[in-house]
Amino acid sequence: MSAQIIDGKAIAATIRGEIAAEVEAMTAQYGKVPGLAAVLVGERRDSQTYVRMKKKACAEVGITSFGHDLPEDISQEELLKVVRDLNANPEVNGILVQLPLPDHIDDEEVLGGVDLEKDVDGFHPINIGRLSMKRRDPLFVPCTPKGCIELLDRSGIEIEGKRAVVLGRSNIVGLPVAMLLLHRNATLTICHSRTQDLPGVVREADILIAAVGRAEMVRGDWVKPGVSVIDVGINAVDDPTRERGYRLVGDVAFDEVKEVAAAITPVPGGVGPMTIAMLLRNTTDSAKRTLGME
Ligand code: NDP
Repeated sequence: MSAQIIDGKAIAATIRGEIAAEVEAMTAQYGKVPGLAAVLVGERRDSQTYVRMKKKACAEVGITSFGHDLPEDISQEELLKVVRDLNANPEVNGILVQLPLPDHIDDEEVLGGVDLEKDVDGFHPINIGRLSMKRRDPLFVPCTPKGCIELLDRSGIEIEGKRAVVLGRSNIVGLPVAMLLLHRNATLTICHSRTQDLPGVVREADILIAAVGRAEMVRGDWVKPGVSVIDVGINAVDDPTRERGYRLVGDVAFDEVKEVAAAITPVPGGVGPMTIAMLLRNTTDSAKRTLGME
């Protein structure tokens, strides 16, 4: 039996529609439009692409975006000043600092400089700390982990009481998604590069979140029949049949695992579109909070 394919593109489009309606209502009632500031340091092509996609998505739902393209050699103090100015700007409800930052910049200090109320990426150390504690809600949850949970919820997949296995423990995906699953009363295992008998651990999962960055690492015989799989990985593999010479695959061998799983996200078209949708969600929620709408 082939798995239900969780269509992240369609779910993200639905969410963007919901946000567009909220933005319209906010503008009609308060004459206010949510604003997102995107801070980009240097000229990394991938970062430029991500920021461009985020600004385009903002425009589509009626959110104003403010771009701050800064030179690679900007000093820590100058960058912090940009962030402080955005903190003070009432038109800006969310500030995203595109990662990675150049090596000479202390990213923890920069992320910690973002006003807690505008931390729409959810990377401020206080928001991450709150996410890791019981009954201490963060103001914002990081976008990719939040998108993973939203995909499960909107696909009708129960989390409470289930055995969840998270592959990866990074600050931006693995760790926060694990905390979210724990808060939703899953029984949780977090795996990483030193985990022994990875296939054996993965086979226990009712819910598997894969975020390791290793192309098609999880094979069909690693998973239990009926598992729900959220594949966060985005990996480029050589493919001479494609014009651009490569294709994108996840951390899960999709064709094998879909024959065993109950539900699975594709790559591309699974978690990716949700990350941006959750950024729009967080920015809109921030504006609503400012207006006392929540
Ligand atoms: P990181 O490289 O920061 O973290 C990878 C994690 O996987 C680490 O915890 C590492 O373990 C673990 N790991 C690496 N190799 C293995 C292995 N062979 N066996 C078990 N564990 C392993 O990656 P990110 O969390 O930033 O990203 C993960 C993937 O998700 C990437 O493909 C990335 O492109 C994608 N991504 C997708 C997004 C989206 O919007 N769809 C957004 C963000 C990321 P250890 O801690 O021991 O080193």
